[in-house]
Amino acid sequence: MSELINVTRSALPPFEEYCAEIRDIWDSHWLTNMGEKHQALEKALQEYLGVRNVSLLTNGHLALENIIETYDLHGEIITSPFTFASTTHAIVRCGCTPVFCDIDPVSYTIDPNKIEALITDKTVAILPIHVYGNLCDTDALERIAKKHGLKLIYDAAHSFGVSKNGVSSACFGDVSMFSFHATKVFHTIEGGALCYNDDSLRQRISDLKNFGIHGPEEVPFIGGNAKMNEFCAAMGLCELRHLGAWIEARRGVVEHYRARLGGVKGLRLNAPQKGVESNYAYFPVVFDGYKYGRDEVFDRLGAQNIVARKYFYPITNSFDCYKGRPGFDPDATPIAKYMAERVLTLPLYPDLAARDVDRICDIILG
Ligand SMILES: *Cc1c(COP(=O)(O)O)cnc(C)c1O
Repeated sequence: MSELINVTRSALPPFEEYCAEIRDIWDSHWLTNMGEKHQALEKALQEYLGVRNVSLLTNGHLALENIIETYDLHGEIITSPFTFASTTHAIVRCGCTPVFCDIDPVSYTIDPNKIEALITDKTVAILPIHVYGNLCDTDALERIAKKHGLKLIYDAAHSFGVSKNGVSSACFGDVSMFSFHATKVFHTIEGGALCYNDDSLRQRISDLKNFGIHGPEEVPFIGGNAKMNEFCAAMGLCELRHLGAWIEARRGVVEHYRARLGGVKGLRLNAPQKGVESNYAYFPVVFDGYKYGRDEVFDRLGAQNIVARKYFYPITNSFDCYKGRPGFDPDATPIAKYMAERVLTLPLYPDLAARDVDRICDIILG
C-alpha cells in the first residue's frame, strides 16, 4: 500500500522554536487565564489582521456561541447550510432559529440576492460563511444588514490571512469569527478568535468566556468557559512567523493542481475572486458531467490510500439531528444541495510534495 496522503496535515513550527516559546511558561507557572502569551497573541493578531480588537477563545465554535450571547440575540438568524456543523449548531444551541439562504454557485458563499425575501420581523442577524478561502459579497451584505438593522457576524473560519483590496477578512461586518483548529491554515492546536472594531464589545466577550465573572465578587452573566490557554497561544505566536511562507507554499500546490486539472471537461475548479488575496485553504473540485462521479473519485483515491473530503456534505439543513424541524429542508437550498453532492476537496497542505499532487491528478484523470 502506498503511503497515506491525508486531506490535510497540520503545519508546525520547528520543535526548538516552540520549546523556546514555552520557556517563559515554566518560569512564570502561569498556564492559562489570559497570561502573557494570550495577551501577546491578541496583540500580534490585531496587528497582522489590522483590526482594533481580537479576543481569543478555546475554539471557533465557542467563539460563535460567545458572540451570539454577547449580542443577546433571540430570534431568526439568516445563514447558509453549505458550512461545517458548527455554524448551524451554534445558532440552535444559543436558542436562535437558523433561516437557510441558498448559495452562489461560483463562490459557494451566501447569495445576497436571496436574503431580503427571508427577512421577517423576527430576524436579528445575518451569519454568512466565507468558504474555502473565498470571501462573501461583503459589500452587498453590509448594505442589507445596515438597511434592515441586522447584526452581521461572519464565520471566517476558512479565511484567516485572506484580504480584499488590501483589507483583511477580519474587518468585515460587525464581528468575524476565526477558527484556529489544527486543520486550519493558521492554528493554535485548538483555538478561535472574535475580531471586531467596536471596543464596547470587549468586556462582555471577556466575561462570557470566563463563566460570566466580571470581578472577584461580581458575576453578571451566565457564562461558560472558553479561555485560550498559554500553550495554545504560544503555538499561535510561532505559527504567525511562518504563515506567509506556508500560504505561499499552499499557493504552489494549488497552481500545480490547476495546471493539471484546469480545462478538463466536467471538472469545475474554484474561480479566483477579483481583488481577493486568497489563503489557499482548500482545493475544491466539482465533478459535474465528468466521466467519474464525485463518489467514484473519492473511492478511487481512497483505494490508493489518498483521503479526499466530501466537504461540505451533507449540508447542515439535512442533518439527522434536525430531522422534522420546520425550516430544515435541503430542497429549499437547491444550489447548496447540488454543490454538496458533487464537490470534493483534494489534499492540500504546505509541504504536500509535487509528485503526490501528480499522483492524485493521475488517479482523477486516469
Ligand atoms: C472549523 C470550522 C468551525 C469551527 O471551528 P473550531 O475551532 O473547530 O471550533 C466553524 N465553521 C467553519 C466553517 C469551520 O471550518
